[in-house]
Amino acid sequence: RVSATNSPSSSGEIIENVVIIGSGPAGYTAAIYAARANLKPVVFEGYQMGGVPGGQLMTTTEVENFPGFPDGITGPDLMERMRKQAERWGAELYPEDVESLSVKTAPFTVQSSERKVKCHSIIYATGATAKRLRLPREEEFWSRGISACAICDGASPLFKGQVLAVVGGGDTATEEALYLTKYARHVHLLVRRDQLRASKAMQDRVINNPNITVHYNTETVDVLSNTKGQMSGILLRRLDTGEETELEAKGLFYGIGHSPNSQLLEGQVELDSSGYVLVREGTSNTSVEGVFAAGDVQDHEWRQAVTAAGSGCIAALSAERYLTSNN
Ligand code: FAD
Repeated sequence: RVSATNSPSSSGEIIENVVIIGSGPAGYTAAIYAARANLKPVVFEGYQMGGVPGGQLMTTTEVENFPGFPDGITGPDLMERMRKQAERWGAELYPEDVESLSVKTAPFTVQSSERKVKCHSIIYATGATAKRLRLPREEEFWSRGISACAICDGASPLFKGQVLAVVGGGDTATEEALYLTKYARHVHLLVRRDQLRASKAMQDRVINNPNITVHYNTETVDVLSNTKGQMSGILLRRLDTGEETELEAKGLFYGIGHSPNSQLLEGQVELDSSGYVLVREGTSNTSVEGVFAAGDVQDHEWRQAVTAAGSGCIAALSAERYLTSNN
């Protein structure tokens, strides 16, 4: 099965060694490794992110924590480099969304708007999408005051030394708030309920931190700007009294969770209760042999470009091993 040319079946149709779904750091890293292993991977890059491949990093400016770029690199530049590297080693890239797939019987089938591909293995790397509040001015201030990733953006000059706010009451939001206290002058945690949902340990850390103020029963209504068009505050509404107040803040971080893009696998591969693809610990193996998952779609915890890339590498090497042992 593992060959430079993918194998024709008895009926003469081509069966690809491996199909990779997704063009974020996980998908492209898997493509680089699979192509270098001579598997001739087929990559469905997707066009969900405004018609461009590259995944979530296409929506950000500076990436300061990807190893190898001491002065930082823009998200689109980093992804274009990964794409070129995958292409250079012979990955076949299709800029299409996969619309359906079947892994119930081998060979598997992957269907996009343009083509149907049969394959012996699949690397599923469709990422996750940060949940948004859909505030009226959210688009205007996305990446210019509103962010969904404290680890990615907290240290940026836009936010350093400023008063910031985090919305959410679970583990993600409390972690983001604690993380931001390293850089911010003060952090406000905006919680809809009358209590936090986070673990007791996280609650204690937040409540005992003098640099965090928790606002319960509080709805985030919109962001406010100054005369220069910069974010200057947040409009809040008390859910118990209906009273509206303005909170001074230069940044608003969403800590309300992510949705893994795992819909195509529903009913075919085991997912956890939040929809993340379940992989066997320390591997990229899903509940179906020959189907591997990498990146944010199987990682509700770390969600970083470098961890996504690392798991893409594991998935490709695992697919190679699987194909070799089933040869
Ligand atoms: P993604 O990057 O989400 O890529 C998934 C890909 O799958 C996309 O190309 C999508 O189009 C494709 N896809 C989805 N469905 C289909 C389908 N049906 N068919 C075909 N393709 C499909 N991390 C850092 O380490 N450093 C940072 O500075 C940083 N900054 C960030 C800034 C922002 C604004 C955001 C949102 C995230 C940031 N992150 C950062 C997190 C990082 O982007 C993610 O952890 C990483 O991109 C996850 O990679 P992935 O390959 O798993 O998925």
